Order: sequence, then C-alpha cells, then structure tokens
Amino acid sequence: MLKDYYAILSVSQDASLSEIKLQYQKLLLIHHPDKQQQNQSVLKEAIPLQDIKEAWECLRQPSQRAFYDSSLKALRLRANGQVNDDIDLDDMDYNEDSGAYSAPCRCSGEYVISEEELELGVDTVVCSTCSLIVRIHYEVETDRDDDNDSDGNNK
Ligand SMILES: [Zn+2]
Repeated sequence: MLKDYYAILSVSQDASLSEIKLQYQKLLLIHHPDKQQQNQSVLKEAIPLQDIKEAWECLRQPSQRAFYDSSLKALRLRANGQVNDDIDLDDMDYNEDSGAYSAPCRCSGEYVISEEELELGVDTVVCSTCSLIVRIHYEVETDRDDDNDSDGNNK
C-alpha cells in the first residue's frame, strides 16, 4: 500500500522542493524521540521518524517524485471510481525511447503510462492536458515461461 508522503509531511502536493525540505527539517525536530516529550502539546499525533525520512527520500528526487505522484494519483482515482473511458493497451502506441505507452485524448493531450507503472499494477491514467481519466486494460503475462520454451535456445 502506497503511503501518502504529502500527508506525512503536511505539505500540499504542489509544494516546492524547498518548502518540503523546510517542513521535513521542522518535523525531524518536532518528532525526534528526544524532543517529543517537550513538544507534546503541539503534536496532533506522533509520526514515526522513519515515515518522515522515507517521505523526504522519495520526494527530494524530482524523477522519483514524479513517479510517486502518478502512482498516488492513479490510486486515488481508482479509489474514487472516476473513470471516463477504457482503452486496451494493444491500442496504445509504444515509445521505445521512454519505455511508455501513449494514446491520444479527445482534447489535444494524451494518456501516457510507463512500463514501470504497468508492472506496479497501475491501470488508470489522467490525460496530460485535461482532467479525463482512462482505465487501461492489459493482460498480465503469467505464462510467459511456457511461451519461451520452444525458442528459448535461440537467444
Ligand atoms: Zn484530454
């Protein structure tokens, strides 16, 4: 289950890196076991120091943060059941350079899903431009070993 790092750090999802860093340092101080006693009055609830560090480690890297954001967004959308359309992965264009599949939206934007996201089980994508959401249907290849038996020696 994905943790909500933004909630852990009490920052908004569009907070800048410096805002997040400031908040992280503040939380480190407040939630440090040595300090917790004296700060008890200002604490709404104790957040494990490990969660705070984990959140910062993820959000400090722009590429990791972007990936985390899309996973989080998809998870929330799925929880809300707000899906506007369905597409088959077979109908999407595969981009070898980025390792991502894309499909055009009815606006001029597009839906993009990376192989990493697919491997994580992400199946809902938001349009890059508008707020439409699609669910992507794809087969999980569980019997890949059987398929490769016949020509496995060629590689
Ligand atoms: Zn769109």
